Amino acid sequence: MAGRVVVVGGGLAGAKTVEALRDGGHDDGILLLKLGTDLPYERPPLSKGYLQGADERSSVFVHDAAWYAEHDVEVRLGVQATALDLPGRDVIDTSGLRHGYDHVVLATGSAPRRLDVPGGDLRGVVYLRTLDDSDRLRAALGATSRVVVIGGGWIGLEVAAAARAADCQVAVVVRDRAPLLGVLGDRLAGVFADLHRAHDVDLRTSADVVRVVASGDGAHVGGVELADGEILPADLVVVGIGATPRVGLARDAGLAVEDGVLVDAHLRTADPRVLAVGDIARAAHPFYGTHVRVEHWANALNQPTTAAATILGRDEPYDELPYFFTDQYDLGMEYVGWIGPGGYDEVVVRGDLEGPELVAFWLREGRVLAGMNVNVWDVVDDVRALIRSRAQVDTTALADTSVPLADLA
Ligand code: NAP
Repeated sequence: MAGRVVVVGGGLAGAKTVEALRDGGHDDGILLLKLGTDLPYERPPLSKGYLQGADERSSVFVHDAAWYAEHDVEVRLGVQATALDLPGRDVIDTSGLRHGYDHVVLATGSAPRRLDVPGGDLRGVVYLRTLDDSDRLRAALGATSRVVVIGGGWIGLEVAAAARAADCQVAVVVRDRAPLLGVLGDRLAGVFADLHRAHDVDLRTSADVVRVVASGDGAHVGGVELADGEILPADLVVVGIGATPRVGLARDAGLAVEDGVLVDAHLRTADPRVLAVGDIARAAHPFYGTHVRVEHWANALNQPTTAAATILGRDEPYDELPYFFTDQYDLGMEYVGWIGPGGYDEVVVRGDLEGPELVAFWLREGRVLAGMNVNVWDVVDDVRALIRSRAQVDTTALADTSVPLADLA
């Protein structure tokens, strides 16, 4: 019997876990503990449409309050779980309350990495992770003229686009030679660098922030000092320098943690009553034959179906290929696949880098590991099929837009 389930963490992964349990026929108690005081919501809009004022607040929530009541899911907001008592099968919260479980699903997500330089805690230095952060940032973008974004990852670039849409002057400070260089490599990172430059973003590449400088009042941010001594003036500094998985509960309970909570393909830790989903899960992946941790929306959306199946005694390993997307200005992109530690040895581009309108492929020994479509749609299933086929592809045909992708798998 599956018994009572406690879900710790009310991001998308937590909310989808309770949904999948009910959809799967679980009819025992479910308790969802969430640190924040809003019901679970989706994060992609917080740095895209919602941040830009295009999406309604109500549209970001996974379910409304009535749904949880109708599905007999007890939701406790503003509660932080502090410990897992494995032998006693209890989750303990900050007030010392014990929440007994038959299964517990850890869905605690990630915390933004903090900027560790002098002045990093001045007023006007902000992060974007929560719905409240997005609300505050949206208000700040409307009241500010000079924004410096620190970090050229997904948060940094999506916020830069939102800040330009709000008509702010924007500089983005990037440690590497280009934004997203580590993920995309030179040629494809160039697409995003060109995009932002074309929208008058002052991209500072190969640049390190050494200090955040106060304005005249001494308390509020006035600028960002780079390693070469230049000061970029700013009324608002947005930090997007990565995230750290919140693995403390599992680690302190003695469960294996290696940059994420180690779980099998059924998302179980070494204690079969304890599962992990979403950003924190480093899960054995049947297709890749190794453990994979993915900090993206689709993982949080899809892993819960497997977690619920596991709890309900069904054998449904998690085998989805990683997927994510971004929208910046008029560019839309989807990425599917995973490069892995071996890396890639070839990049093939089908289409036009300048447009941009293309599908890019990262290959190793002639096999497609990952693909990214930019302003080209309805190709993700074909890219997935190519990756899953592990076929040696003819790279000339791969680059040829007149050859249907479906013919190459
Ligand atoms: P991210 O995508 O991991 O990018 C962080 C970037 O900041 C990296 O390029 C990193 O460079 C750089 N960096 C790290 N330390 C730095 C420092 N001290 N100074 C300057 N740059 C520094 O993380 P994020 O953009 O902060 O996003 C947070 C999380 O949200 C991630 O998990 C991300 O996947 C997710 N997210 C996803 C999307 C999407 O899928 N569209 C959108 C928003 C957020 P190195 O690579 O050299 O370390």
